[in-house]
Amino acid sequence: MSNLVEEFMKKIIAKNPGEVEFHQAVKEVTESLMPFIQEHPKYQHAKILERIAEPERIIIFRVPWVDDKGEIQVNRGYRIEMNSAIGPYKGGLRFHPTVNLSILKFLAFEQVFKNSLTTLPMGGGKGGSDFDPKEKTDNEVMRFCQSFMSELSRHIGADTDVPAGDIGVGGREIGFMFGQYKRLRNEFTGVLTGKGLEWGGSLIRPEATGYGQVYFAEEMLNTRGDSLKNKICTVSGSGNVAQFATQKAIQMGAKVVTLSDSGGYIHDPDGINEEKLAFVMNLKNVKRGRIKEYADKYKCTYVEGKSTPWEVPCHVALPSATQNEISGADAALLIKNGCFVVSEGANMPSTPDAIDIFLKSKILYGPGKAANAGGVATSGLEMSQNSMRLSWTRQEVDSRLHQIMKDIHSTCVKYGKEKDGYINYVNGANIGGFVKVAEAMLAQGIV
Ligand code: NDP
Repeated sequence: MSNLVEEFMKKIIAKNPGEVEFHQAVKEVTESLMPFIQEHPKYQHAKILERIAEPERIIIFRVPWVDDKGEIQVNRGYRIEMNSAIGPYKGGLRFHPTVNLSILKFLAFEQVFKNSLTTLPMGGGKGGSDFDPKEKTDNEVMRFCQSFMSELSRHIGADTDVPAGDIGVGGREIGFMFGQYKRLRNEFTGVLTGKGLEWGGSLIRPEATGYGQVYFAEEMLNTRGDSLKNKICTVSGSGNVAQFATQKAIQMGAKVVTLSDSGGYIHDPDGINEEKLAFVMNLKNVKRGRIKEYADKYKCTYVEGKSTPWEVPCHVALPSATQNEISGADAALLIKNGCFVVSEGANMPSTPDAIDIFLKSKILYGPGKAANAGGVATSGLEMSQNSMRLSWTRQEVDSRLHQIMKDIHSTCVKYGKEKDGYINYVNGANIGGFVKVAEAMLAQGIV
């Protein structure tokens, strides 16, 4: 680590004690940006990096609600409004027991660069709660969402801050929150994305993150004259991102052999086909069951207690569950077993050790802020449709998404190509995402 990065990180750590995920995300970006900023002193003089790492606003609030037994429950709600230099704050809400300030700040920080990469006018934000929707009834989830939105509604708005889904927040939760916002504010507006099709949602939004992640993998493979056809893919997770990454990978001729949840992973060497995927979608989105039931139904291997499938040999790994799910040892094993493409659907799924190994091995490594930006890009398209009060066709949205992923890939190549021709997508995404935000901050003065 260079001295400048070390000095910068000392200040970040002192100012944000104990927030290890936030430190990890800032350090990764700073390592890419420091040499670039040295070459462009205007960013250094304006302290852009120092300002970008400081949230514009953090909102923390109590979320009380009553469970089905009549007992009062108390959760904590958050919204991190990180940066609004290029547009309204935009980023998902996560409902998971592990949610804390550090995790949401890392996600909001990443979101600033990701949103910039999409080329759409969106600032960065993130929020959520330590509420766990698992094993709650629909009525309990509704009461929680209503309480959460009662406070959040004061801080968001179609031109101010537009949340979306993330882990634990899908169509059901967005529906309950949108209903409460509309009731409190008496306005039908595009204040949330990921809405249902009947009430302002966009076609392809549910698919967008996973589809985009696979389009990005294909773009990376194309740089080596290769494609996804006949590649073996391992996918982690079995939620929104994992399901649609699997679907698009199958459509592009790859064979997906794993899925997982926090209980374990399934390995189906015959490959997950459309019919088996339909079973997973019903299991996860309707029955809200566990991935183990796939192994019971299709008589394949289930590895209990191991939520990641990285020991299974593959050409392409599509991490789609959560942060830090690929350790250094996992990365080494992936490469030993022949993996040469990693396209991240999850945010920060690879630890710093894993990233080091991927870059040193010169594999095609697409970091989340580039590879999973299709989700927020399509949220941006949902906002445009809401503002125009129009709905585009499935084909129109999908082709815009595909083009955006190609453009993000080109930006990464522009800023990440090294002297020997290797594309360092980490540098490419960090620098490519930084420039637009930094220029806007320079133009807008010290605010
Ligand atoms: P979902 O809640 O739909 O699914 C999450 C999946 O990951 C589930 O299978 C879940 O298993 C598993 N998982 C979550 N946390 C853990 C954990 N701590 N350990 C092991 N398994 C875990 O979320 P999404 O699919 O929407 O999100 C997945 C990832 O993609 C996240 O990193 C998110 O930030 C990122 N992302 C999502 C976008 C979107 O549009 N939804 C956009 C960009 C990035 P279980 O059910 O057992 O908890």
